[in-house]
Amino acid sequence: MAADRPIMPGATLGMLGGGQLGRMFTVAARTMGYRVLVLDPDPNSPAGAMADEHVHAGYLDSAALDRLATECAAVSTEFENVPADALARLARHCIVRPAGDAVAPTQNRLREKAFFDRHGLPTGPWASVSSPADLKSALAAVGTPALLKHSTGGYDGKGQAPVDTPDAAAEAFDALGEAESILERRVTLARELSVIVCRAADGAVACYPPGENVHVDGILSTTMLPAAVDPAMAERARAVAAATAEALGYVGVLGVELFVTDDDEILVNELAPRPHNSGHYTLDASATTQFEQQVRLLCGFGPGATDLLSPVAMVNLLGDLWRDGDPDWSRVFAMPGANLHLYGKREPRPGRKMGHINVLATDATAALERARTLHGALAGD
Ligand code: AMP
Repeated sequence: MAADRPIMPGATLGMLGGGQLGRMFTVAARTMGYRVLVLDPDPNSPAGAMADEHVHAGYLDSAALDRLATECAAVSTEFENVPADALARLARHCIVRPAGDAVAPTQNRLREKAFFDRHGLPTGPWASVSSPADLKSALAAVGTPALLKHSTGGYDGKGQAPVDTPDAAAEAFDALGEAESILERRVTLARELSVIVCRAADGAVACYPPGENVHVDGILSTTMLPAAVDPAMAERARAVAAATAEALGYVGVLGVELFVTDDDEILVNELAPRPHNSGHYTLDASATTQFEQQVRLLCGFGPGATDLLSPVAMVNLLGDLWRDGDPDWSRVFAMPGANLHLYGKREPRPGRKMGHINVLATDATAALERARTLHGALAGD
């Protein structure tokens, strides 16, 4: 394993996980001339359908992992909860990026917040809750309004509840099965930003400009760029995100979710050790896509240019849109500047990410308005 020599096109890359992020990685890698092997137990996985080869097996299947380790020059992942044992097993034989120990702090909300505090990265007040007895002191330390979140089992707003009183806290803790949790101060958000950071093995860092995100029911709904912030705020957001990647010793693509408070403070909310949903706009509006970056960094090259080539808005397509069958896609194809991306998922369940649309326009507000109008039309509103 020659960690310092870049892996050239023609080599085989492995992807642990077969969802949409793995799919877009696979398309990018194959376009760039690499072979891709996807490991995922689901025979209909979105990434498996695009791969040179799809190994249908669980992430801890030792024969499958050994196969990946022998056939692939390097392996990456598309989800944060990839078993540490799987990464460690692979890392004995081939390059694994990001490394298991860089991913570990992101796998648990308490560990993540402790990591932010340790490295002086700004975050809101929080306290850990592991028994009903902790609740009162946690509420006193954190203040209200607050949110109680499961420390591991939750994403896209799942596994969390608002709490403003000791009674509500007790109820929420009970609903979480009294599992280890984090109590966070619910901050007043002026806006939510995210920065996609690319960090190479030699420490070179390139950050995309911050995207401005809107969540609905805890799930990302839209991202627009440029964000409606002044250049100083955009620079601060990039600096915090770059410092986070450096503190982690991270190699690869890292999504950094940020809160901007009503007094213009920037707080780190959470990290995604992989390309991020809010970076899907890069597929149509950037000099290099976030998936091309994942390939470049995995293979030991430096990051590509992160310049925004056009104002853009991305809107997610959730399974709810399929209420009455397939949406009328001709509406997307009829709108100038709109590009459809579907992930090839067969079952459109409510809340499930099925695809997204990127809309390019002459300014971000117009792009966002068109994306919203298009989404409304597809929903039959
Ligand atoms: P999370 O899964 O923790 O990223 O939460 C999903 C969304 O819920 C965030 O993007 C915010 O819109 C909202 N949220 C989560 N935590 C907080 C918080 N401490 N204060 C205010 N809003 C929050």
